[in-house]
Amino acid sequence: MTLRLFNTLTGQLDPLTPADGMALRMYACGPTVYDYGHIGNFRTFLQIDILRRALQLLGTPVRHVMNITDVDDKIIRNAAQAGMPIGDYTQPYIDAFFEDFESLRMERPEQIARATEHIPQMVALVEKLAAEGAAYKAEDGSWYFRLKSFPEYGKLSKKDLSGMEDGARVDVDEYEKDSARDFALWKAAKPGETSWETAIGRGRPGWHIECSAMAMEYLGESFDLHAGGEDLMFPHHENEIAQSEMATHKQFARHWMHVRFLLVDGRKMSKSEGNFYTLRDLLLKGYKASAIRLALVSVPYRHQFNFTFDGLAEATSAVDRLRTFHERLKAGGFAPGESSQMQEAARKAKAEYREALADDLNTAEARAPIFELIRAANTAIDQGECFAADSEAILEVLKDFDAVFDVLEDRDAEPTRRALAWAEKSGRMNEVTPELIAAQSLTDEGIEMLVAERSAAKKTRNFARADQIRNELAEKGVILEDSKDGVRWKRK
Ligand code: AMP
Ligand code: ZN
Repeated sequence: MTLRLFNTLTGQLDPLTPADGMALRMYACGPTVYDYGHIGNFRTFLQIDILRRALQLLGTPVRHVMNITDVDDKIIRNAAQAGMPIGDYTQPYIDAFFEDFESLRMERPEQIARATEHIPQMVALVEKLAAEGAAYKAEDGSWYFRLKSFPEYGKLSKKDLSGMEDGARVDVDEYEKDSARDFALWKAAKPGETSWETAIGRGRPGWHIECSAMAMEYLGESFDLHAGGEDLMFPHHENEIAQSEMATHKQFARHWMHVRFLLVDGRKMSKSEGNFYTLRDLLLKGYKASAIRLALVSVPYRHQFNFTFDGLAEATSAVDRLRTFHERLKAGGFAPGESSQMQEAARKAKAEYREALADDLNTAEARAPIFELIRAANTAIDQGECFAADSEAILEVLKDFDAVFDVLEDRDAEPTRRALAWAEKSGRMNEVTPELIAAQSLTDEGIEMLVAERSAAKKTRNFARADQIRNELAEKGVILEDSKDGVRWKRK
């Protein structure tokens, strides 16, 4: 099945297929590592994870490259303030990023590329642009891209840039979004700043050149898809197109995907507003990584996502419902045979699920038939109308679902444990909710012992003690489920 994805460049849904007939070559702008990733960043990365997983599920292998911006204005400024080399400053944030990446169960891109390890490729690109007459050196030794040399500038963001001034320049990484000016490809070294001695002078790369150079290094001059958050469309991606296409005279990326921004309670997330959350903040508040993942991916990528704690609670119970149902199927005990109704329900859910993903990654529409199937199957099981072959068929649908959403298996203990270890190390234990600390104080063995003691108490009709244990565990976030096969427990 071919996935149809909105293409910012053409303004329509285009089929997303590999030009080489083999693997879909995609580049996604990665993090700038001067701080911990926030949930807005992760919404974008998670939606790209959904894309790569959906492509694979529908039969297209991917070759996914993601960069790490480990040199830019902010990094240089912060490292200088901290009095350390930029590499020492960024390394903990790079490690933290990949830890978070794993906590949210994002698949590793096939290639991770650090900007500081690709300086020669960037320099070669600037030289090529200079030879094309599209780059010039300013008095201070910095190199700029001559916007007027690329008449198609603006074709991605569809901005009217007719008022752009020839020769007006900009050299900061972030600047006002509505002006188009010659942008810095290479910044001449300033005293005390990190710099490299190269054929085009001593200096450091501008932000945009890094993505062009690394994308072409690993994916070739022309590739299938380029992705990032919506803020990157202009000027970052527009600049990438200009400098890449001027250098190669080929189309850079055929398809452009932009993820809409995340808001918190309807407002822009910002530290000064007090509504700014990193993944770690949420883990320390006791939310599960799986629920955070499900919440951040369930609103389709082209819709604005409004993060709320109610939404996160909804995702938490959705994960619970999925897992409880999965356990119920895995527990087995179904009579041999099949019911045509359940077979049809499973077939329909799978088809609708895949169709929704193929339709511009509509994650909300993709979720719906799965939960509908769960409802129908639960009723059928209650009435003894779900048979062994039905259970198999439904498990197959869940496997499909999980190949993309990846929340069925309970792997939530590890991210929480890591977040707590980090909080302890960085003096942030005051941010941890008391319930979480209490729950962590109980080991699995400790819980098993209390559960066994409770069963023994019930046998001797000591119900007071049995209830006391149940309450004690509940306070620490452990829920007991009595069933005919004994007692099951789980952490909330
Ligand atoms: P940065 O680390 O700032 O370079 O950002 C990494 C990625 O996160 C980029 O693709 C950004 O577009 C994206 N991003 C930043 N803020 C948000 C947000 N509030 N919502 C969604 N994506 C965001
Ligand atoms: Zn980029």
